[in-house]
Amino acid sequence: MSYFRSNICSMSGYVPGEQPQGDGFVKLNTNENPYPPSPAVAVAVNEALQRGLQKYPDPMAGAFCRRASELLGVPPDWILAGNGSDDILTIVTRALVGEGQLLRLPYPSYILYRTLADLQGARSEEVHFEPDWTLPEAFGRGSDDLRLVFLANPNSPSGTVVPPENVLELAHRLPCPLLVDEAYADFAETNCVDLVAKSEKIMVSRTLSKSYALAGLRFGYLVAQPHLIQQFVKVKDSYNCDALSIAAATAAIGDQAWLAETREKILHSRDRLMTAMRDLGFIVPNSQANFVWALHSRQGVRSMYEELKRQRILVRYMVYPGWGDGLRITVGTDEEIETCVAKLRKIV
Ligand SMILES: *Cc1c(COP(=O)(O)O)cnc(C)c1O
Repeated sequence: MSYFRSNICSMSGYVPGEQPQGDGFVKLNTNENPYPPSPAVAVAVNEALQRGLQKYPDPMAGAFCRRASELLGVPPDWILAGNGSDDILTIVTRALVGEGQLLRLPYPSYILYRTLADLQGARSEEVHFEPDWTLPEAFGRGSDDLRLVFLANPNSPSGTVVPPENVLELAHRLPCPLLVDEAYADFAETNCVDLVAKSEKIMVSRTLSKSYALAGLRFGYLVAQPHLIQQFVKVKDSYNCDALSIAAATAAIGDQAWLAETREKILHSRDRLMTAMRDLGFIVPNSQANFVWALHSRQGVRSMYEELKRQRILVRYMVYPGWGDGLRITVGTDEEIETCVAKLRKIV
């Protein structure tokens, strides 16, 4: 006899990428930004500290929503702030998917979606991408009990994008909301924010962890039509974002010059990394994110991952049954990439 709900006992639990405790690692495994965030962030955090932390924060993170509203071209009440975008994904799943109901996710993609379904005691249906990373017709098919569909766009681990016109068409076919997880959209050529006004079924989540270099802070948000946001508010923790993170996030998105400059550097390094990996015989889909996905045409890559780790270079090794195994390598600085590629050249 267990104290726990049976779905908790039988699920495996999400395992985040390794955060090494020692120094001296070149860390290219969890898609963090290699550059420090905008200097405006530290200024805003200090000001918030001066104001003091005795009082509860604004439960709706209004200052952030107003600034995000200007940037995104949607009214503030179309935005819900969260403690990282994982918090947003949790709120949305809890609000929409009940026990025994169905959640659909693409495969291979972000493994957390599956975990969120398991937590609800819901059923999850993995629909495989086509070999060229387009979505099959089955991804948009209606189905009894289907309550929510996730789509990471750009996708992880592939870095590939489903074009907005296909996303809109997908939403029209689905009987339920579609959450477009745009954790990496700042590195892509397109995004789906404008589609939220076109279809109430389209919701977009974003994070400040990657493009704004604030993974340690925990801040993300959802863009959806206001009648949906009002329901999600009932599900979230009352104070899901703290005063320091609201101040920091508001300052971060206020510095678009920093974002543009950092993005340029990362896209430039991404091109170098893709080219170098292809030269080493890896198969690398064109990435629109801040990482590249590399499969080897002739050999498994597990031993390469292990050898890199021995040499204190951490990349993400992933096995997707039916798709093989690969290395997901974060776009670090040019120097970090050069170090990684030089070691791989000796290993391969
Ligand atoms: C990193 C990531 C997230 C989570 O971001 P946080 O805001 O740090 O919780 C969500 N979705 C995908 C696909 C990611 O890669």
